[in-house]
Amino acid sequence: MTDLTSLTLAEAREGLANKSFTSLELTDAHLGAIEAARALNAFVMETPDQARAMARAVDAKIARGEGGPLAGIPLGIKDLFATKDVRTTACSKILGNFVPPYESTITSQLWRDGAVMLGKLNNDEFAMGSSNETSCFGPVVNPWRREGSNTTLVPGGSSGGSASAVAALLCMGATATDTGGSIRQPAAFTGTVGIKPTYGRCSRWGIVAFASSLDQAGPIARTVRDSAILMRSMAGHDPKDTTSVDRAVPDYEAAIGKSVKGMKIGIPKEYRLDGMPAEIERLWSEGAAWLKAAGAELIDVSLPHTKYALPAYYIVAPAEASSNLARYDGVRYGLRVPGRSIGELYENTRAEGFGPEVRRRVMIGTYVLSAGYYDAYYLRAQKVRTLIKRDFEDCFAKGVHAILTPATPSAAFGIGEKGADPVEMYLNDIFTVTVNMAGLPGIAVPAGKDTQGLPLGLQLIGRPFDEETLFSLGEVIEQAAGRFTPARWW
Ligand code: GLN
Repeated sequence: MTDLTSLTLAEAREGLANKSFTSLELTDAHLGAIEAARALNAFVMETPDQARAMARAVDAKIARGEGGPLAGIPLGIKDLFATKDVRTTACSKILGNFVPPYESTITSQLWRDGAVMLGKLNNDEFAMGSSNETSCFGPVVNPWRREGSNTTLVPGGSSGGSASAVAALLCMGATATDTGGSIRQPAAFTGTVGIKPTYGRCSRWGIVAFASSLDQAGPIARTVRDSAILMRSMAGHDPKDTTSVDRAVPDYEAAIGKSVKGMKIGIPKEYRLDGMPAEIERLWSEGAAWLKAAGAELIDVSLPHTKYALPAYYIVAPAEASSNLARYDGVRYGLRVPGRSIGELYENTRAEGFGPEVRRRVMIGTYVLSAGYYDAYYLRAQKVRTLIKRDFEDCFAKGVHAILTPATPSAAFGIGEKGADPVEMYLNDIFTVTVNMAGLPGIAVPAGKDTQGLPLGLQLIGRPFDEETLFSLGEVIEQAAGRFTPARWW
C-alpha cells in the first residue's frame, strides 16, 4: 500500500469509499507522521485517543453507508478554534489551560460531515504575526529548506502550524483564519493552497476573535480541489454569528475544471512594487500567461488606494483587537496573577499573559480609539477602508471576474531573521490585507519556486461570494505549475 499520508484528500475520500483502507488506518498513518515530525512544532496538542475514537465511529458509519462528505478524513485544527473539552489557547499564555465547554461552528460542521480531529495546530499568539514566531509554544518550522542549506525557515503566519502540517503530510487539510493574510501568506510559504472566503461566508462563532470586522476562517490544503471540498463543509449561515450571511453554499468542487474561457483577469499596476524581486515579477507574468493560454483575457486595472491599505489595517486591526482582548483580565479565563486590588490583578495578569506583539497591538489600539484621537486615526482609517473597497468595486463593475497578484513579496525567510523592526514583518501582508479590508475572497495557489528552491504563490482575488471562480482559475494555475512537496529531512 502506498503511504496513506501522501494521498490528497480527494484520493483518500475515494479510497475510504471503496474500502481500500479504513479511517482508522488513515488516522494512524497521520498520527505516526505527527509523532515523527515533532521537530516542526506544528501541533501544540495531539489528540490521538480522540482521533482514533472518531475514526472508529466513522468507520462504522461508512460500513452502514452513512458517511458524510468528509467521512474519515483526518484534519488539524488551528488553536484559535474552540474545541469542546480540548484545550484551546490561541497560543497565548493568557488563556493558560482553557478548555472550552463548547465547539466552534466551523469545527462542529467538519465533525458533522465525518472528519476526524488529529489535534490543535500552532499559530501566532492571537493570530497576530506573519511568521508564527509570536506563539507562546515557540516557532513553527517550515518543512521547506533552501537548496543545500539547513537553515530553519518560518512557515509564515499566523496559521503557520496549519500550513506546515499540511505541507509536511501530517494532516490532509487544516482549518485556518485570515485577518490580514494569515491563510494566504503561510500557504504561499509552504507550497500549499489557502483560501480566505468572502467576509460572512463562514461563521466566526467559537473562533477566538482578533479583529472581528476582518477575521474570516478558511481551509489550507494541498490542492485546489481539496480546499474546495473543505470549504463546502466550513461555509454556511449561522444564527450565532450575526455577520454570517444566509446564502446557499454552492458545490465548490463542481467549479474545478470549469472553463475559464472569456474570463477577464485584472492585473493591478499598484501591486508592481519598487524593488520587487525579479523572481516575483516573473512568477506573476507566468501566472498571467497560463490564464491567458486557458482562454482568459488579461486587462490592466488600477486600484489606486492600495498603498494606504497596510497603514489603515494597522489602525483598524489593533483597534478591534484592543477591544476584543479586554476580556482577558484574569477573572474569567485562563491565567490569573493576583494583586492587592482588582485593578492590580488585571494589570499583573495582562502584563504576564500577553506577549510583546500582542501588548504592542493593545497599546496602539487603545491609543487610536481614545478620545481626541479617534477621529484622526480610527475614523480616518475606516474612510480609507471604504475607498479601498470602492477601488475593487469599480474594477468588478468593468466586467473583471478576478484579479491576479503575487501572494507575498518574498519566499519564506529564516526563523529570527525578521522581527527586530515590526514594520518589516508587517510588510509580508502588503498584497493580502487589501482583500480583508474590502471583505473579498482571495486564494493563494503555489505557482513556482524562487532561485533557492522555495515555493512561491500567486493570489487570485474574487467578487464577493464568488469563491467558485477562484477555484476554477486556481486550478488552471495548479495544473500549469504542478504540485509542491518538500523533501523530507525531519
Ligand atoms: N500578519 C497580519 C497581522 O499580524 C495578519 C494576521 C492575520 O491575518 N491573522 O496582523
